[in-house]
Amino acid sequence: MKNYTLLILALFLIKTYSYGQYPSSTNDITVLTINATNQINNTFIPPNPQVAGKVSQEATIIVNFINGNGTSEQWTNEAKAAFEYAAGLWEKAIYSDEEIRIDAYFTPLATGQLGNARASDAWENFSVSGVNTDLFENDYYYVQALANKLHQADISSDPDLIANFNSNNTNFYFGTDGACPNTKYDFVTVVLHEIAHGLGFTSNFDNQSGAVEYRFGANDNPFIYTKFLREGSTNITDMGSPSTQLTNAVISDNIFWENYKIFAPTASYIQGSSIGHLDAVTYQGTANSLMTPGAKKRTWCS
Ligand SMILES: [Zn+2]
Repeated sequence: MKNYTLLILALFLIKTYSYGQYPSSTNDITVLTINATNQINNTFIPPNPQVAGKVSQEATIIVNFINGNGTSEQWTNEAKAAFEYAAGLWEKAIYSDEEIRIDAYFTPLATGQLGNARASDAWENFSVSGVNTDLFENDYYYVQALANKLHQADISSDPDLIANFNSNNTNFYFGTDGACPNTKYDFVTVVLHEIAHGLGFTSNFDNQSGAVEYRFGANDNPFIYTKFLREGSTNITDMGSPSTQLTNAVISDNIFWENYKIFAPTASYIQGSSIGHLDAVTYQGTANSLMTPGAKKRTWCS
C-alpha cells in the first residue's frame, strides 16, 4: 500500500460545503473486475509502515460476509480473516467519520475472474459542511463512502460497497503473511485492490453508443476521479461527452491521474478495466502495482 493510496487519500481528505441535495439515479456503476492472468510474479510489497504502523485506525469498515446465492459456497474463517486484515489496512490509510459498510459475497463468478467490486451508489450536489470547502465540486459524482464522509452522515442506509469473490477459484491464498506460493493468487492483495475501486478509484466512461461518454445519473456527469485525469496536458473534463476527442483519449496510452500513468491501452477501450487502473507496464512489480489490472500468482502487494 504505497503511493496509490494518495489517490484515495486525496479524495478522502476532501472536505465539504453546502449544496442542495439530490439523489443519484439507479444507473449501474461500473463494475471493476480483477482477472487471473495465470502468470507468476515474485513481488512482495509489504504494507507501508506509515500506514500499517499507525496505532489507531482513522476509518471504520464494517464487512457483511454473505455466502453465495443460495448455493453451498461459504466464507471460511480464514477467508474472512484475510478480508478483515485487508480492510484493516484501509482503515488506517483513509479518514472518515462515517462507517464504511461492505457487502462481500463469496459466490460463483465467471471463469478467470477473481473478484469484482463497485460502489453501491454515487451522489452529486449533496449538502456538505466543514473546512476545505473549495475542494468540493458541484456536478461531479462521489461514490457513496466518500459522499458520506463529506456529507458527515449516511446519505443512504444501503451498504457503500458491493464486492464479489469467485468461490469457483481454488487458487486463492488466504494467509496474511505474504507467503503466497507460485500456484496461487493472494486474497489479501485482491481484496485491497477491490476495496480501492469501491472507495472511489473508478470512473464512469461508457462506449456503448460507439463514442465514449460519461454515463451515470440524471445528467451523466463525471465521477470526481475524472477531474484529475488528463491526456498529455489536456484535462479530460475539458473534452466533450460524448466526443471523438474523448473516444480517442481513452485509448491513447497517454492518460495520467495527476502524475500517475493510467491504463489506457490503444487496442480498444476495455469496459471495467481501461482508465480504472494504473498502467500495467509502468507499475508492474513496483510499489504501485496494486492497482494495475489483472492479478498474477505469487504476488503480495499491500
Ligand atoms: Zn481493478
